[in-house]
Amino acid sequence: PVVTRFAPSPTGYLHIGGARTALFSWLFARGRGGQFLLRIEDTDRARSTPEATEAILKGLAWLGLDHDGEIVSQFENADRHAEVARELLAAGKAYKCFATPEEITAFREAAREKGESTLFRSPWRDADPATHPDAPYVIRIRAPLTGETVIRDEVQGDVRISNDQLDDMILLRSDGTPVYMLAVVVDDHDMGVTHVIRGDDHLNNAARQMMIYDAMGWNVPVWAHIPLIHGPDGKKLSKRHGALGAQEYQVMGYPAAGMRNYLARLGWSHGDDEFFTDDEAREWFDLSGIGRSPARFDLKKLENLSGQHIAVTDDAALQREITEFLAAAEAPALSPGQQEMLGRAMYCVKERAKTLPELLEKAHFALTSRPVEPDEKAAKNLDPVSRGILGELTPQLQNASWSRENLEAVLNSFAESKDTKFGKLAGPLRAALAGRAVTPSVFDMMLVLGRDESLARLSDAAA
Ligand code: GLU
Repeated sequence: PVVTRFAPSPTGYLHIGGARTALFSWLFARGRGGQFLLRIEDTDRARSTPEATEAILKGLAWLGLDHDGEIVSQFENADRHAEVARELLAAGKAYKCFATPEEITAFREAAREKGESTLFRSPWRDADPATHPDAPYVIRIRAPLTGETVIRDEVQGDVRISNDQLDDMILLRSDGTPVYMLAVVVDDHDMGVTHVIRGDDHLNNAARQMMIYDAMGWNVPVWAHIPLIHGPDGKKLSKRHGALGAQEYQVMGYPAAGMRNYLARLGWSHGDDEFFTDDEAREWFDLSGIGRSPARFDLKKLENLSGQHIAVTDDAALQREITEFLAAAEAPALSPGQQEMLGRAMYCVKERAKTLPELLEKAHFALTSRPVEPDEKAAKNLDPVSRGILGELTPQLQNASWSRENLEAVLNSFAESKDTKFGKLAGPLRAALAGRAVTPSVFDMMLVLGRDESLARLSDAAA
């Protein structure tokens, strides 16, 4: 069975690149009946904070990337990591090195002067344990000296590294703490991870991690190192390209489904498909669809997909998402009455809204209450002549049956009697009903608001 994991370092918010890595791992597992695990890589005690862990969890929760099992804390596994280092020591795959920092520096300087590789070659690698001093030591792995290491990567293909590039890296520091590289390998192994999907900034680590797998005789997981995300200009994604935190996109009002769709397309493709549902994504996602060159961030595409997802999301789910969006944006929550009105208006506001704030703006007519305050543009449509016209129209609607067909008939014949087109009436009607110049259709608004509220608003605006 497939087991993937997301292994963020809790040093900040969930980065958009991290969110994509998590999504790929989640899709891969979920599409194969596998497990998606979460490990917090909190071994860097100085930089790891509980707030960052919280922020990452919130980001994942927003994106709906649910994980299986308990959250693993890498730091809490330190004893186990040290145990593996000692196991390698006992098996002769690692050795105690007593070289002091000064000796290592001196070695490097001498190598530099001779124009040789500055990779530290410890004199203790082949020392007889009987000669070991009673002094602090680190445990180093015995790296292969000749040949090459081949990393089989599902995205990058075979990556070959000449073993003379590898040093006897430290596994356990002199204070007994394990190094990060060891922690990752041991945790991935112990967690039963079968597929590691992560940024290609970790490709260099893979060669060194492979040494540990080999030394322990463990199976190497399938690796897929994905190219990082670039900005529209092809440069590495940075602040000046826009928001980097995944949750900033929630605050901007992108629905999670749209964001998932968009992130899935950032560096992965399935034919020409741009828009797809979560079910399709889970079914289609595979490692062979991941591109080798960096994907470029494209806000227009995000907006476009976001709008398509808003249009197809069912009303109740959309309502829940709006509630969460308002909370995330620290905006006032909707009252129960507004909730109900939004539910009634949903059918005519969710088409063609690219973001949730856009949807709410379209739904303004349903969310506002009397007296309706016209904005600047709407106010222009409520000049004395228009208000006079509304004054004549309102009584005619008093007894009209409140159906779309009938309202259309009444308004059209009224326009005819005024020797004008319905279009000319629309501005004042929008202004009176919604206080806006751009709104859903006048008929939709009248139907959503109902007879009493519609007539009251028209009377308010009429002269
Ligand atoms: N903690 C690493 C990071 O946040 C990920 C390491 C891994 O996926 O192996 O970049």
